[in-house]
Amino acid sequence: MSDGHHIFRGATIVAADGRADLDLEVRDGKVVARHPRTAPAPTGAREVDVRGHLLMPGMVDTHVHFMEPGDPTREDFPSGSAAAACAGVTTVVEHTHGRPVTDVESLVEKRAALAGRSHVDYGLVAHVWPDRLGDLPALWGEGVVYFKAFTCATHGVPAIKGEKLAELARTVAELEAPCLVHSEDDAITAANERALRAAGRHDGGIVPVWRSVEAERVSTSEVAGVARETGAPLIVAHVSNAALLELLARERGAGSRILAECCPQYLNLWEREVVELGAFRKFTPPARIRSAADEQRMWDAFNEGLVHHLSSDHAPSTAAQKRDGDIWDVHFGLPGIDTTMPLMLDAALRGRTTLERVAEAYALRPAQVYGLAGKGSLNPGDDADLVLIDPDGGWEVRDEDIHSLARWSPYSGRTLRGRVVATYLRGEEIARDRIVRGDRRGEWLPGAGSRERAAEVSDGRPARLAKSIRGSDGNVD
Ligand SMILES: [Zn+2]
Repeated sequence: MSDGHHIFRGATIVAADGRADLDLEVRDGKVVARHPRTAPAPTGAREVDVRGHLLMPGMVDTHVHFMEPGDPTREDFPSGSAAAACAGVTTVVEHTHGRPVTDVESLVEKRAALAGRSHVDYGLVAHVWPDRLGDLPALWGEGVVYFKAFTCATHGVPAIKGEKLAELARTVAELEAPCLVHSEDDAITAANERALRAAGRHDGGIVPVWRSVEAERVSTSEVAGVARETGAPLIVAHVSNAALLELLARERGAGSRILAECCPQYLNLWEREVVELGAFRKFTPPARIRSAADEQRMWDAFNEGLVHHLSSDHAPSTAAQKRDGDIWDVHFGLPGIDTTMPLMLDAALRGRTTLERVAEAYALRPAQVYGLAGKGSLNPGDDADLVLIDPDGGWEVRDEDIHSLARWSPYSGRTLRGRVVATYLRGEEIARDRIVRGDRRGEWLPGAGSRERAAEVSDGRPARLAKSIRGSDGNVD
């Protein structure tokens, strides 16, 4: 396919807006047109036979931690992005807590370090440091995709709260820059920690008590209040339970531009697992599912659109790192990029959700909200980022098949319906049958506020700036 002009023939195209039996013509890395199956092949196009398969937009995972530069024992870009490619994810947005981007210099440094390191396209995030809010406009202009803030000190990142949180919201409202907020109340989690330590607890059961649902609710309510007052485009990261998804929906109904991100661990893992498995289920906020009814309520919330978009929050540690430490000290987080799309594919093929909803929540909407133009859909002019799926196939998740340096998965042992057959980035095959190609073609994607993209628009080339979050109904343009 090196001539750059080909036609994918015989698949069913599935995207957020529906499915259709159409052939997809791709040229120079872009979708050119969709043709009826009976139409003759366009002149000069090479045929790619994809009969019996589904063709979806490449997934867009806007919350991953590939730890580079940062902690090469946990993850790096070649491994993390290989895991993405094999799972049908063609765009990631990354930040590393251990080596955060907090100013233009650290962004430029990180961007240079990552050249040629990624199998998939990638954007970068800046961490919000409470005493460095003045750096945000320059970072936005330099091309970060969004800002990440924590309302409680976590992973070595300081908490931003009170007047600083309001100042942050006013700043991102002014910039029209999305800000993803990890919302847990700093005072409540600190008090819970003191009590648990005083009781001498070192078991997995500390996690849901320490990182309580009250801590998440109090902080999320505060963040929602600040969003309402300032008009800031805020996204609450990894909302763990349906009651909070409903709270955020009410806020949008009242005009706030606040959205909810969710992750497969909140749809698939149960609270009791951390009690049994300790650090191997230590992530925060923790899993909240206690009953089949809780689980169904989360899937209903997902299907009804209360979840705006899905991400993996891929934050791996190796099994040794999870095993060989006190539960208090082991890193939060799970490996997830290998399994997010396969889990959602399985859920759709079992009827818990639909493939269209997966394409919406894990491709279209994250691309829109973070201004990743040309990603997440397969309309003429979009990047030809594709995932080819065999709906009759299956995949048994096994630790040895995980591409992340974690080399384990919380879902190992599960047999999933459907199989990711191949993944294409800008028209080129980057993975097939869970084997990644050696050449790393991933490119850096500047954010919506970057000067590079502003220059593109003024050059007269197609405007790639997407208006990000709209108010009231929570939909995006
Ligand atoms: Zn995260």
